[in-house]
Amino acid sequence: MSQKLTVECKVGDLRDELVVNGPLSEETESILAAIEFPKSLKSDVVLDLAGIKHVNSIGIRDWIPFVQRLEKAHRLVLRRCSPTFVMACNVVQAMRGKAHVESVCRGYECPNRHYFWVDVALGSSKKQTDEKVPCERCGLKAAPEYDADEYFRFLE
Ligand SMILES: [Zn+2]
Repeated sequence: MSQKLTVECKVGDLRDELVVNGPLSEETESILAAIEFPKSLKSDVVLDLAGIKHVNSIGIRDWIPFVQRLEKAHRLVLRRCSPTFVMACNVVQAMRGKAHVESVCRGYECPNRHYFWVDVALGSSKKQTDEKVPCERCGLKAAPEYDADEYFRFLE
């Protein structure tokens, strides 16, 4: 069954939010190009990207013009970028456009193979590390899925 890509607009006080859910792939080709933004969309727009679970080259081809179209009239902030999205940004810098990245989801796995995400805020200049964190389910130390050097490279 094919999964649909949706972009939901949430109106905020100071900035509006676009919540993107679904894959960026041939399944969703041309959906992004057809999306019409509300006329009332504020100058500051947050893209919430935790719902992007799959990205391939066809999806990237659709995504870049979507970001460029938004950037013509809005200041973009990316929030909760999913690991798949982050790894695509590490390959194709244009995925991010000129957007400020507020936070990214980093994957961790514990010895019991529990996999979970931690939303990492990037506001401070604090250097990201490969420190282990307690597993949400069993409490054992969980290691990051990707090294910090590799994972956060697209921010440099
Ligand atoms: Zn665990």
